[in-house]
Amino acid sequence: MVQQVNVFPPLKGAFIDLDKVPDPVFAEKMVGDGFAIDPFDNALYAPIDGKIKSIHRAKHAITLESEAGFDILIHIGLETVSLGGTGFDVIVNEGDKVKAGDLLTVFDMDYIAANVVALITPVLVTDIEEKKLQIEILPHDAITDLSKPILTVKLGNHSVADNNVQNTSPQITLESDLITIINSHGIHARPAALLNSIARKFPDNEILMIKGEQSGNVKSVVSLLSLSVQYKDQIQFLVKGNNGVEIIAELTDAIKNLHDDESENPIADPNSGEEDNKVENGKYHGVVASSGLAVARLIKQTGTQFEYERFAADEAEQLAKLDKAIHALVAELENEIKDLTEFDVAHKNILNAHLMILTDPELITQAKNLITNGQSAAYGWDKATTESCKALLATGNQLLIERQNDLIDVRDRVLTILCGNESKKVAEFTEEVILVAEDFTPSQVIAMSDKVKGLVSVRGGVTSHVSILARTRGIPLLVGVAKDVLQEHEQNVVLDTINTAILNVNPTPEELNQAKGEVNRRREALQIAREAAQVPAVTTDGIQINCLANIGNIDEARIAAANGAEGVGLFRTEFMFLETKEAPSEEMQFNEYSDINHVLAGKTLVIRTLDAGGDKKIPYITQMHEENPMLGVRGVRLCLANRELFKTQLRAILKTKAENIKVMIPMISKLTEYRAVKQIFEEIKADLGVNTQIQLGIMVEVPSVAFISEAFAKEVDFMSIGTNDLTQYVMAVDREHTELAKEVDHLHPAVLAAIAATSIGAAKHDTNLSVCGLMASEKLAIPVLIGLGIKNLSMTVSTIPENKAFIRNLNYAKCKEVAEHCLSLPTAIEVREYLKSQFN
Ligand code: PEP
Ligand code: MG
Repeated sequence: MVQQVNVFPPLKGAFIDLDKVPDPVFAEKMVGDGFAIDPFDNALYAPIDGKIKSIHRAKHAITLESEAGFDILIHIGLETVSLGGTGFDVIVNEGDKVKAGDLLTVFDMDYIAANVVALITPVLVTDIEEKKLQIEILPHDAITDLSKPILTVKLGNHSVADNNVQNTSPQITLESDLITIINSHGIHARPAALLNSIARKFPDNEILMIKGEQSGNVKSVVSLLSLSVQYKDQIQFLVKGNNGVEIIAELTDAIKNLHDDESENPIADPNSGEEDNKVENGKYHGVVASSGLAVARLIKQTGTQFEYERFAADEAEQLAKLDKAIHALVAELENEIKDLTEFDVAHKNILNAHLMILTDPELITQAKNLITNGQSAAYGWDKATTESCKALLATGNQLLIERQNDLIDVRDRVLTILCGNESKKVAEFTEEVILVAEDFTPSQVIAMSDKVKGLVSVRGGVTSHVSILARTRGIPLLVGVAKDVLQEHEQNVVLDTINTAILNVNPTPEELNQAKGEVNRRREALQIAREAAQVPAVTTDGIQINCLANIGNIDEARIAAANGAEGVGLFRTEFMFLETKEAPSEEMQFNEYSDINHVLAGKTLVIRTLDAGGDKKIPYITQMHEENPMLGVRGVRLCLANRELFKTQLRAILKTKAENIKVMIPMISKLTEYRAVKQIFEEIKADLGVNTQIQLGIMVEVPSVAFISEAFAKEVDFMSIGTNDLTQYVMAVDREHTELAKEVDHLHPAVLAAIAATSIGAAKHDTNLSVCGLMASEKLAIPVLIGLGIKNLSMTVSTIPENKAFIRNLNYAKCKEVAEHCLSLPTAIEVREYLKSQFN
């Protein structure tokens, strides 16, 4: 027998079809099916006989369980959870039995209407599929009549209880805890792509991200982006099906490990903001997205137009065509990714994000729906991607709006395949050019020839993929420029994003000459620096400063050698451990160390033992949860707690028996730790019968070491100051902290004092001292470090030639005076100002 239950309107108001509710969670029936009411009255009544199953703690949502066993959820207003219960007076309690028409809640319509998106109240029958229910909206008026049923629920041949019994594999739904978003840009394209790639490993599960009242399909990048999840937002994952715990753990881990991509951070531009978007005397103001100087011909880059038939008769053929085009582009992107080197991290991430967009199930479904409605493959794809762009635009979130370009890029590449449009290729230029466009796409920047010396766009932002790529390629980029720029003639212009943030389309002959002169001077200086890279960096008064390299792999070792590094001052071995599913074997490590050593041809190679823990979690090393991981088991502490792993690494290094290799221990805070390591080190040496003098040194990253550096200097073979961590611990600021870390400066006088103390301690025992934090790569900081007595600087590989050239112009005596003065200044700002005044 088919059981049928009538549902009455719980509110007086205007009836609204569910798909018209302006919230996709309800409109797309993610929670349940039913109808909605825009209330005229402030009283909510029971729509059925049943029991109050749950009342949300924010009082805005009530679930009733019918006597027949199905549930009805009433959600008063949209996004009302944010009111935290204010404005709602719930009359009933959970567990109460009610009859249809009993008063459940009274609410303050004015207050709620003024504070949320809408008062529209969805009334939903939930778990329709699982409980094999059917619902039907009954004939009704535009305004609900509380005495007339509005919906009927049919229960099929058995009761819901029977259904539940027969259901041998119930859909388990698991919810994660609330997770706070910690990366400053929230869930934008790359994090979305990462989560998406995890979710797609579980094809049998439905996986949602919940933000407030909204939810997004984690298997769809577009759906995730449309949630507009931002820094400090709280989200949850909801997983339907088996393996929920595992899936939630993996997704949660991925979110917790999101951190800001360095190249993603906007370049500070003191002139931007107030000045942008102005035009005066041919001078277009904008925002600096990539800094540099260029003089060249201004050329307008036009977008690609595609011609195609809108309608197509053969649906199957069009669907196959789209599939083929998508597969072709997937293969193309995968090949492009394969061809990239390990340095092209930004480029690789962008292409991976494009892959995710390209295989986005919602995008493909939208396109295919259009095709099954008689449209062509090209139209279907074009329309679906363009609609998704609009959805991003509608979020109002600047970061998501910037990501439109990635969608456009993918759209155009598929259309190029579908339409065979060869005009997609970026034009070859015979002279140097500065390109101007409404906006650029990442593919365009990647494909740009060396003739492109500058970019100017009306749209775009400093954090877009285009900007990241422009910075990586060293092409100056000015964004947010007034639209009129698109009407400018082809002519010689000056783009200056170093000293100003201006495109000058009307330069005077003097301005043109001056800019050309500076461009040439810069080019020559870089060229000279590169040519002289192998020449030692000796100050004008004869002091040699060794410029070493910080590397993470063998490719960087090669670049280091080519760039004139006097050796490697820091080989961060943790990458080797982070990249593998299990700890790298002794043999694998031995090969890696030997290969790198071979590249360096006898120059110093400082191998830092595993520096994990803290911000660098290694999946296969079990670690207790720590409230303050930066103050927890990291660096040497982790190695001493995982001795076998540590010993394997030490054995692999010692087996090289190479005298130019040195072993460096990170995060040492006490002498007893060093002594413990030394004992293990000596035991292994004896075991292996190694007689070579392989030095064992420490990193100075914890203030305790700086304070008693003399005691350390007496025992260790060498010391290297890790200014990144030293700054973190001196200033008590987590270096990963999105907000605070921006303010922390390694040029703070307190950090300088710690370096000075270390230097004095090291000198007492003639212990070799170097600096290998980021500070050693920064031009402004180099004279201070030299002045504090540091003769070995280990820096980012790409900066070596320029820094060596810079050091050759420094005077050691002056550096000492300058460093002395810096130590007497009270703030980092004053130190920087003073250094700028001394070294221009
Ligand atoms: C440092 O802390 O300065 C350092 C060089 O080590 P890492 O940045 O790898 O922690
Ligand atoms: Mg460190």
